[in-house]
Amino acid sequence: MLIYVLEDEESIRELEMYALEKNGFEVQGFENSQSFYKTIEKRAPDLILLDIMLPGEDGLTVLKKIRSDAAFAKIPVIIISAKTTEFDRVKGLDLGADDYMCKPFGVMELVSRVKARLRTIYDGYSSELSFSGITISDKTRTVTVDQIPLELTYKEYELLKMFMENPQIVLQRDHILDRIWGHDSTGRTLDVHIRMLRSKLGKYGKCITTVRGVGYKLDKDK
Ligand code: CA
Repeated sequence: MLIYVLEDEESIRELEMYALEKNGFEVQGFENSQSFYKTIEKRAPDLILLDIMLPGEDGLTVLKKIRSDAAFAKIPVIIISAKTTEFDRVKGLDLGADDYMCKPFGVMELVSRVKARLRTIYDGYSSELSFSGITISDKTRTVTVDQIPLELTYKEYELLKMFMENPQIVLQRDHILDRIWGHDSTGRTLDVHIRMLRSKLGKYGKCITTVRGVGYKLDKDK
């Protein structure tokens, strides 16, 4: 799971990042909204920790922008702010924050709130997913096809999971590449993995359909 931390105060940013990294999260920190936007365009995180009082654009403006962009609207956001009045908290939550923590905060509480948020957002639908005869169980990272276990490489698994989480939705090539490979990848990498995945899925391979010039879609076998 990837977490972005937007916080201008270095000591707090380091503290948040250190606590999350120690708990197995991949974390990237930003001190202003410009660097944050540049990175989020390339790779979307699974959760964002957001400070309100920032130099330049403030956190609430950042939150509004995230929530109004379809690509990022669903990413959970936890505000961590020194603005602690009820009015501030309500304002943050009304703008679409998922949680609001006041400074100074306890590191353990921060980690457990992050985990709780990720559980409610992702666990429900990502623990076990089925499509036609394909089932993936994310807790054990296992895949079965017609109840027979299937071995996939790490990236093949991630790719299949992304399709299973978005059935019958066209996934753009760039979006898939960003999400699974980050920015240092080429379209060829994706093509090769799609080909391998189709072949391993056997008769369900054709459920991964090519949408010419756009990307791929997991679709019912017609
Ligand atoms: Ca600040």
